[in-house]
Amino acid sequence: MAPTAKSYDYIVIGGGSGGSGAARRAAGWYGAKTLLTENGRSGGTCVNVGCVPKKMTWYFASVNEILKGARNYFYDVPDNVQFHFDRFKKRRDESILRLNGAYERNWNREAIELVHGTATFTGAKEIEVDMQNGSGKLSVTAPKILIATGSYPIIPDNVEGAEHGITSDGFFDIEHLPKKMAIVGAGYIAVEMAGMLNAIGVEVHMFIRGETFLRTFDPMIQETMTKAYEHAGVIIHKSFKGFKKVERLDQSPATVTDGEAHEKRADGPSPHKQLRITDLEGQTFEFNELLWAIGRAPEVQKLNLDKPGIKLTKTGHIAVDEYQNTNVEGIYALGDVTGQAELTPVAIAAGRQLGNRLFGAPELKCSKLSYDHIPTVVFSHPEIGAIGLTEPQAIQQYGQENIKVYRTRFTAMYFDVFPAEEKTKHPTQYKIICAGPDEKVVGLHILGEGSGEMLQGFGVAIKMGATKADFDRCVAIHPTSAEELVTMR
Ligand code: FAD
Ligand code: NDP
Repeated sequence: MAPTAKSYDYIVIGGGSGGSGAARRAAGWYGAKTLLTENGRSGGTCVNVGCVPKKMTWYFASVNEILKGARNYFYDVPDNVQFHFDRFKKRRDESILRLNGAYERNWNREAIELVHGTATFTGAKEIEVDMQNGSGKLSVTAPKILIATGSYPIIPDNVEGAEHGITSDGFFDIEHLPKKMAIVGAGYIAVEMAGMLNAIGVEVHMFIRGETFLRTFDPMIQETMTKAYEHAGVIIHKSFKGFKKVERLDQSPATVTDGEAHEKRADGPSPHKQLRITDLEGQTFEFNELLWAIGRAPEVQKLNLDKPGIKLTKTGHIAVDEYQNTNVEGIYALGDVTGQAELTPVAIAAGRQLGNRLFGAPELKCSKLSYDHIPTVVFSHPEIGAIGLTEPQAIQQYGQENIKVYRTRFTAMYFDVFPAEEKTKHPTQYKIICAGPDEKVVGLHILGEGSGEMLQGFGVAIKMGATKADFDRCVAIHPTSAEELVTMR
């Protein structure tokens, strides 16, 4: 739909999770005249190169895990079950294309005007959109402008030839799985992608700076999951100091760089490569692919934030208060670009609350998202779920003498029929951290099959302020793994 006006009630920059949530609340619920600008594919990171294709690939990998385990249930499964990653990838792309369309239809239905192009501030209340397909430039104004431009994956600028590797964006272009892959990083993306690739037979080498990965998670998760990955066959290079040089030895086409946006983005299609990598200690490795998973940086470069004078934090994110206000009146920011809990439902929820506050009834004028107790799941193998404080954080906040920690480890019933040496490779561990005399649950950390689905309900209870006694009062569902959480002593 072509834009119909020069001025709007609300301009939203970025049609990802946060921008879409914000625009739909403002226009769909409150009838605000809204313009949405998007310079990539509708739906943003989550839909195109994040949560959605990642979870579909996680399912793909989980099928292989089930097949591998099926012999323990006396199914005659051949040793080398053939699978077709390229065909799966095509089907996955088709699903995402459908989702892009669904986003646009929803916006259209709610009278949100969509412009495909890159938005830049030309004044405090004025935006210029460089429209795609040579459609020229559009100048629009609004008293309220939201920045929801997300983030991009970092490629190190101190490693020669770093652009020969890919980031998570490039991961989703892979059609033919590499035989041997290096993954640098120790966060969500490194762990999720290492788990998936390992489960489908790629030789995965993780390069992590510490002794464990997921170092922001509870120590139980870090230690158990790092060992579980090693047992599952992931080769983990610990105390990693860094790579010095990446050389491409094969004759395949040069990697793609976008040249202008960020120094070294290399997210082109991923043919089989032959990479020689030299680390800072002079050791060399050969891999068919290298994935940088060392974090993401805020997408602010093209916005011309100096024009309105928007302040950034030390990490380069847009600085906002608890109501998503920037330092400039009438300009708001949320989602990854603010660096606040970089998760899709967080960006959506912040966008909806902002819509309530800006355009809703007077009693909603103080609406804001509470960033406390946000449940999160890592789609590792097995999954991890966490909400609230880690044990070290709880000790720091309440004092060792005021917390009580309940923990359990066991083998989930699904693995009962597995040979003994196999069972130990599939841990299930839960930890509940309670504080004060009433044992309020302030942290819950779970790992094991089904943890992703399990956490949502417990999240509701914890958000409501549940105590250990409340957990215990809930009758167990048997036989499940989750029942352990309401029967712990
Ligand atoms: P985005 O969704 O990135 O949207 C920003 C949009 O703004 C983009 O579409 C971009 O093209 C557009 N844009 C940027 N600059 C401009 C401009 N100047 N003009 C116009 N448009 C512009 N989160 C979860 O909760 N669960 C998961 O399982 C999960 N998995 C993930 C897996 C991966 C591999 C990655 C990378 C992320 C994952 N995330 C997950 C995180 C989640 O995707 C992000 O937190 C979320 O997408 C952030 O939403 P956003 O609206 O802030 O940004
Ligand atoms: P993260 O911030 O989660 O992790 C990056 C990790 O890489 C750091 O924790 C750090 O670990 C390590 N690292 C940083 N620099 C280097 C370096 N130079 N060399 C080696 N290792 C380095 O970022 P991700 O890119 O994994 O993910 C970005 C965000 O996207 C996540 O924080 C999360 O919010 C979101 N996301 C959510 C998912 C979900 O909900 N399931 C899935 C994927 C992403 P250390 O300090 O231990 O070295």
